[in-house]
Amino acid sequence: MRKRVVILRIHKYDKDLIKEKISQALYKYFSIDSIKKEDNILLKPNLLMPVNPYLAITTHPTIIEAVGCIFKERGNSVFVADCPGGFLNKNDLNYVYKETGVFDISLKNDFKLLYPESFFTKNNLPLCWWVNQFKMINIPKLKTHSLTTLSLATKNLYGCIYGDFKSFFHLKLPKPKDFIKIIIDLYKNIKPFLNIVDGILGLEGNGPARGGRPKNLGLIFIGDDPLYTDYAISKFFKIKDRFNPLIKAAKEMGLIFEKDLEIISDLKDINVNLKLPSVHILNYFPNSLISFLKSFLKFYPKIDNGKCRFCFKCKNYCPKNAIYVKENGELGINLKKCIMCMCCIESCKFGAINLDRGFILKIIGRL
Ligand code: SF4
Ligand code: SF4
Repeated sequence: MRKRVVILRIHKYDKDLIKEKISQALYKYFSIDSIKKEDNILLKPNLLMPVNPYLAITTHPTIIEAVGCIFKERGNSVFVADCPGGFLNKNDLNYVYKETGVFDISLKNDFKLLYPESFFTKNNLPLCWWVNQFKMINIPKLKTHSLTTLSLATKNLYGCIYGDFKSFFHLKLPKPKDFIKIIIDLYKNIKPFLNIVDGILGLEGNGPARGGRPKNLGLIFIGDDPLYTDYAISKFFKIKDRFNPLIKAAKEMGLIFEKDLEIISDLKDINVNLKLPSVHILNYFPNSLISFLKSFLKFYPKIDNGKCRFCFKCKNYCPKNAIYVKENGELGINLKKCIMCMCCIESCKFGAINLDRGFILKIIGRL
């Protein structure tokens, strides 16, 4: 069966405009009439960390609001949920909802915010309780990602994993090609009925957090399947499969086929570029050279003790116990233990941990 992806061109976060354009696309190209009034709708954005939405790290609240209002007007109850790493209790998650603008739009439109109070397991995946209770609409951000090249609809399902299990999987599967298997497992077990990717303001460069750079892309992608939606986006930006580990693995596993992708777009001669993470350029190097340079090629998390409030959330969340208190009372990171999972960066609500690039990456990042 063919999988459909619609591309919309929208340049600003104007709720009425976004609502009108998405609504037209849903009625024309997707089976929205199969949603009954009594169905409860769950909006699943990417709320990676508590930051201003104009940093393009999280889904913009205006898109969440526009989509929620479409279903509210059809008589559905609308819920919003995410489970960002390190923000498991209600107070912490409320802080994320507030900083990302989701709290305000939920209050205004009578959307109910959910909290990850418990989990269930499905095929060994520990998933937040809300995953199988609602009709899910996946609303990710269009971002680059230093581990997986892109973070789009399928990767956004990682936010359905309950709390600290996320850092557990990072610990168990530090290599991109192994980590991708968890993302594909999530794809097989979680079925959002719509995927609406917020690419009005995207994130390029060394995403998915503060290392990336916001970029006006003016795009929204809507698809009925997360993997095909990601495939369409990868093709749109002309990213070769070998540079996109998710698409490469999905093709090798027979999960996606070119012939089954139907792209609907009236955009002509549009040329929008997306700068990929610095590590992407390494794909042009021969393997022998990469293994020789390996120790110089890493990203390192670095704590800015001037900004640190010594709450120790990062220390408690680190799956490798790599964060320690130095003799002078400052926090340090033992890079011999660190597996570069970046969980500490995502868990720090004060923005006190950032990515520091190794010498060679600093040079090639300028290319
Ligand atoms: S770096 Fe951030 S999370 Fe870690 S102790 Fe400091 S303020 Fe807390
Ligand atoms: S220090 Fe940060 S990046 Fe390194 S293992 Fe711990 S949480 Fe992961």
